[in-house]
Amino acid sequence: MEIFCTVVPPYLLESVAEGTPAPTDDLREDSGNSGSGNSGSGNGGSGNEDSTQGPVRSLRPSPTSAPESGASGAQGSGVEGSQVEGSDFGPGLEFISAETSEIARRTLEIDERMRQERRNPQPEPSIVQVKGTLARKISDAKNKEVLPGTLVRAEGDEPTEDVDVNRVYDTFGSIYAFLQKVLNQSSIDGHGVALQGTVHFGDHYDNAFWDGEQMVFGDGDGEVFATFTDSYTVVAHELGHGFLQYTTNFTYQGQSGALNESCADVLGTVAEQWALGQSAEESDWFIGREVFTPQIAGDALRSMSAPGTAYDDPSLGVDPQPEHMSEFVTTREDNGGVHINSGIPNRAFYLAATAIGGNVWEGAGRVWADVLLSQELPLDATFVAFAESTVKHAGRIFGEESSQQATVQKAWETVGVLQPTP
Ligand SMILES: [Zn+2]
Repeated sequence: MEIFCTVVPPYLLESVAEGTPAPTDDLREDSGNSGSGNSGSGNGGSGNEDSTQGPVRSLRPSPTSAPESGASGAQGSGVEGSQVEGSDFGPGLEFISAETSEIARRTLEIDERMRQERRNPQPEPSIVQVKGTLARKISDAKNKEVLPGTLVRAEGDEPTEDVDVNRVYDTFGSIYAFLQKVLNQSSIDGHGVALQGTVHFGDHYDNAFWDGEQMVFGDGDGEVFATFTDSYTVVAHELGHGFLQYTTNFTYQGQSGALNESCADVLGTVAEQWALGQSAEESDWFIGREVFTPQIAGDALRSMSAPGTAYDDPSLGVDPQPEHMSEFVTTREDNGGVHINSGIPNRAFYLAATAIGGNVWEGAGRVWADVLLSQELPLDATFVAFAESTVKHAGRIFGEESSQQATVQKAWETVGVLQPTP
């Protein structure tokens, strides 16, 4: 089954649609006691609020209340300890304009409609597949909700005057090269399927998504969300879902859904680190550092090194991602918290990658890709099953009882997924 992954998860858009900063301010002052958190469930148009579930943004204390760690603590410290990095945000956006809240509400409606449409059987994509050939097609929806829109730049065409078109074209080309040179795959399906993107979808549409066949980008509201075409990790994450679709397409619900999200983040950061020629120590491990406007108090959509600290803004709340199994979030929102609990396997990957060190695509990235390409896991795999598979593949690649294999095992122990071996 195809998944429908939006870059901005529904709970974040709901915060923008509600535009009520007060509850989050209260939470910031009580240094993380989530017991009072039935605030902010609002009635932002979704109509199915459940009083047994607090708003996800109340689940974590503000990172500003976390213990200080040394400035260098986040780098190269191996698998021990937890760090808070880059959490000294400004005041953030206290008030959201009515226009932006309206844009967020409309975006939620469009997303729900697209999600429903994807549940119906889709025709097979009628795309000519030529193995080993890069084929990009960038279309312009011209601010309508139409797909794919008008084709404006096909493979080999000269750059257009539209910066969004050219950025998507170039990023697609880079990710294709990553798939070919690093993973030895011809495009996301292994058979050279065309990479298709549509820009300027909808009227200030506040999201971007992968719909199973192509990537779609809105222009953003300009107040909370900037453009979505400027983030390499976002584009690589979404094409990563395409890659997963053709390898191990974990069911998009609960733990397996969080694995799907986490593996898309892993592919996103590995591709970006490869494109930038960065080592694991040099990367900032952010996913979507470009999507917020400078007004927002936050670094990115997600932090793989310190889940739960990517943003802390009056208009958005606090990044709800846990970094340890003891904080696993049970919720009916977001397909069972797929964008939330992905923080746990994300941090395991970061810990393994930095402890192995060097180029992530030659270390932990190779292990994770091997697991996906082996297609040995069931689609409803749990975190534990995935973790055990990475340990096995680390042994296969680097040798049984190699230091790399021990490092992968230790990373999963640190996030509470695997139990320490006696
Ligand atoms: Zn996703």
